[in-house]
Amino acid sequence: MESHAPGIDPVTQPPLDDRVGDGLARLADALRSQSWKGASKNGLTPTQGRVVALLQNAREGLRLPALASALGVTAATASDAVGALRRKGLVEKHVDEADRRVASFELTDAGRMIALDVALWPAFLTEAIDTLPSTEQESLLVSLIKILRHLQRAGELPPQRMCVSCTYFQPNVRPEDRRNSHVCAFLGTPFGNQHLRLDCADQNPVTDDREASELWQQFIGGPLEK
Ligand code: SF4
Repeated sequence: MESHAPGIDPVTQPPLDDRVGDGLARLADALRSQSWKGASKNGLTPTQGRVVALLQNAREGLRLPALASALGVTAATASDAVGALRRKGLVEKHVDEADRRVASFELTDAGRMIALDVALWPAFLTEAIDTLPSTEQESLLVSLIKILRHLQRAGELPPQRMCVSCTYFQPNVRPEDRRNSHVCAFLGTPFGNQHLRLDCADQNPVTDDREASELWQQFIGGPLEK
C-alpha cells in the first residue's frame, strides 16, 4: 500500500503510478518539442530524424520492415520517410545481388554528417540527468529497462536491442564484483548495471520465451536488483 506523509490527502492525490506516468508523459512532450526543433533545423521531419539515428547505429544498413518495426510505424510511413531522405541525398539503397527483390538502406556521407547533429538532439535531457547522482542514474536506467521490456512484451513497443534480451548477456554471474557482476559473452568483458545497453548493434535476441524469462529472472533476482 502507498504510504503518505501527514498533511497529504491520499484521496485527492493521484496514485503514485499515475504521477510517475504523468512525469514521463511530460518528458515525452519535451522530447517531442525538442526533436521538432532539431529536425526542422536540418530540414527533416522527426520521423526522418529517427530513421537517420537508426541507420547511424546499423552497420550493415536496415531493410524497410526492420526500420518500420524499430520506428513503430507502418511500412508505408517508413517508406515515405526513407524516400524523402533518398531525395535529399542522405540515404542510399543497396540491392542484394543474391536476391534483387531484397534491399537495405544506409546513410550516405551527407547522411552521416546530419546523424552527428541528430545524436545531439536529446542533449538537453542528458544535462538534466547529469544532475542526478550516479547511483540514481543507474537505478533510473534499470527502471526504464523494466518499463521498456514490459511494453515490448505487451506489444506496445517494437523489439528493443537491449542487453536484457540478448543471448550474449550473462547476468549476475560475478556476484563477488558488485560493480561488474554481469558478462557480455560477445565482447568477453564483465560489466555492471551502469553499462546496460538499450540499443546495441551486436545484440542477438533471445527468441525462446522460456529462455527469455529465465534470463530476466537471473537479472532481476541478482544482488543489484535490491
Ligand atoms: S552484445 Fe550488446 S546487447 Fe548483447 S550483452 Fe553484449 S553489450 Fe549487451
